Amino acid sequence: MKWLFFIVVLICKDLQAQPTLIVLGTVQDAGSPQIGCTKDCCQQLFTRPDHSRKVVSLGLIDKENRSTYLLEASPDIAAQLRLLKKYSNKPHDFPDGIFLSHAHIGHYTGLMYLGKEAANAQRIAVYSMPRMKEYLSQNGPWSQLVSQQNIVLQTLTNEKTVRLNASLDVTPLQVPHRDEYSETVGYLIKGPDKSALFIPDIDKWEKWERNIDSLIATVDYAFIDATFFDAKEINNRDIKTIPHPFVIESMQRFAHLSLNDRRKIHFIHFNHTNPLLIKSSSAVKKVLAAGFRIASMGDVFKL
Ligand SMILES: [Zn+2]
Ligand SMILES: [Zn+2]
Ligand SMILES: [Zn+2]
Repeated sequence: MKWLFFIVVLICKDLQAQPTLIVLGTVQDAGSPQIGCTKDCCQQLFTRPDHSRKVVSLGLIDKENRSTYLLEASPDIAAQLRLLKKYSNKPHDFPDGIFLSHAHIGHYTGLMYLGKEAANAQRIAVYSMPRMKEYLSQNGPWSQLVSQQNIVLQTLTNEKTVRLNASLDVTPLQVPHRDEYSETVGYLIKGPDKSALFIPDIDKWEKWERNIDSLIATVDYAFIDATFFDAKEINNRDIKTIPHPFVIESMQRFAHLSLNDRRKIHFIHFNHTNPLLIKSSSAVKKVLAAGFRIASMGDVFKL
């Protein structure tokens, strides 16, 4: 009888070999506390840091092939890779690939820790769109990572799927954003059972030629730009002039979705001023009461 129990345990373990997505950071590019901030939001954090306040990043674990991938190379990459290792049981911290969304500081500067002064990593695949690839290969210090083969650049094409294994793939979706040095993409991640959308930075939803509502209908999880909650954070300036979908705007836009679709939405990429970073805030209660969710460091999703 005992052996039967062990076989059942083994089968269950095998079922658990599904790929998983892990939230490794939820904060906007500049982190929390933010440099120079004298407001209440950061006051305590300079002396008592909150270790769950890491810059936006997702980890992807392909258990079948014992591979890991990082979406974004944030300035908090060291702690994030250690967390990814812990979840994946890999013998080392380094991922098999890194997918970058764009050339704003929170999304790619973590690459610097792969170079000579730090890890001196060997040939880590870095996936980016053509302009981003050009930017990295033509400008120091990033170009040194390329010439020293710490990283190997892989070119993405908008909406063209990259297959990581037979049942796991990643597709970049170009989005409107401030594109000074690179294009900006979000990602669609598809596993054998479930799929996720990750759009950490975007201008207003209406500016995108794709319909976000229908895209949400096709996925199981949607991690979307929630940089600012409402106008209070920007001294009551007109939110229409700030190129991000404010959380109150997104909640209004998505209010008509079914509860099932609203529950897929996980807000992420919070500015240091955003009350969604504070679990006890009325903003958090409002978001949850409306059926939406708030991404939290260490959240795990099966794909
Ligand atoms: Zn950002
Ligand atoms: Zn602050
Ligand atoms: Zn950005």
